[in-house]
Amino acid sequence: MTPPDMPGWDAELQARLDEIRAQGLFRELRRIDSAQGSRTRIAGRELLNFSSNDYLGLANHPRLKEAAIQAVKEFGCGSGASRLICGSLAPHHELEQSLAAFKGLEAALSFSSGCAAAMGTICALMGRDDVVVLDKLVHASIIDAARLSGAKLRIFAHNDLNELEDILKWAVERSVAPLPRRQRILIATESVFSMDGDYAPLPEIVRLKEQHGAWLMVDEAHATGLFGKARRGLAEEMQVGDRIEIQMGTLGKALGSSGGFIAGSRALVELLVNRARSFIFSTAPVPAAAAAAREGVELVRSADGLARRNDLWRLVDEVRPLLSNAGWPMSGDRSAIIPLIIGAESDAVSAATALREQGIYIPGVRYPTVARGQARLRLTLTANHTAADFKILLNALNGLLHKSTS
Ligand SMILES: *Cc1c(COP(=O)(O)O)cnc(C)c1O
Repeated sequence: MTPPDMPGWDAELQARLDEIRAQGLFRELRRIDSAQGSRTRIAGRELLNFSSNDYLGLANHPRLKEAAIQAVKEFGCGSGASRLICGSLAPHHELEQSLAAFKGLEAALSFSSGCAAAMGTICALMGRDDVVVLDKLVHASIIDAARLSGAKLRIFAHNDLNELEDILKWAVERSVAPLPRRQRILIATESVFSMDGDYAPLPEIVRLKEQHGAWLMVDEAHATGLFGKARRGLAEEMQVGDRIEIQMGTLGKALGSSGGFIAGSRALVELLVNRARSFIFSTAPVPAAAAAAREGVELVRSADGLARRNDLWRLVDEVRPLLSNAGWPMSGDRSAIIPLIIGAESDAVSAATALREQGIYIPGVRYPTVARGQARLRLTLTANHTAADFKILLNALNGLLHKSTS
């Protein structure tokens, strides 16, 4: 029997949903009837898509598709078991060799997702008595991982090096106290931030972590394939790629497939194979995903990858001043992610709806993905977009601005 003061299951869920709606935060899935590309099909209509993380246009690339098809033919659809049982198939090993060579590091380990990589890695490395220090804007998977690890959590204001230094000093001092062992300190940040497109000051963070004996984990989800001469990421571009203990990336963004990875030393990868629970207790990713990701890595490393990266930056450089002239504040950091800050959650939703009516797809990004009152259109550009595509967007955005000021 339900106790009298306990609402029924449906009533409870409806009340919670009503609360989400009342805050303008209700979300629902939108069915996409086409492959990723600069154009996408929704409800029978073709829309210009400015919201994908497929930065280099590899998700629907013939070479990746062919690699996936070959893997299905040779290895089937499912992996059968976790990597440590009998699911560690050749495509996973080939992917990890390619990733290590690409990153210029000893070893790499792939996970079913970036979320799983963050979760498994932080929980394997850190525990009670340890301290995890995070940038305020770091990805939810890293925040959740830090919480789950049981370590003490300290957050510094976004890219605030003074606050980071204060926290590190505090952590080192605390570590002198009579604890059973010296506590470990891990700093984690993104390199290019997912919702703002700005950069972490990696050289300064590296200097601070070295001064204080901390470890550093950098999530390059939005920089892998895009930055640096070898396109390894922002750490390479900022010349600190060999001074970061844990380099994380995703296989589902510029690399065009699905999954996540950690790259670093051989010992790091061996420890993760033995201790990362999201790796150990999960069926290996399907061979098609691993084979496509490997092809994505090889493509990024090739002349074609360089050309795509250069096409993307050419477009970004063309677009930024145009948006700035149209009254949208631009960050100083060049990125494929360009936040168009709207503010109120409901205004961001109306702006997204108005754009959709004009054939442009950029969903509004709201709390909890970004802070309350910081709702935005998160514009992303890819190597598949043209300057003409952007002109269509700019015209529509100008219409929006005029409507909101009149
Ligand atoms: C997308 C993303 C992840 C998670 O990766 P998935 O493979 O999508 O689980 C982690 N960190 C950042 C910064 C991301 O943008």
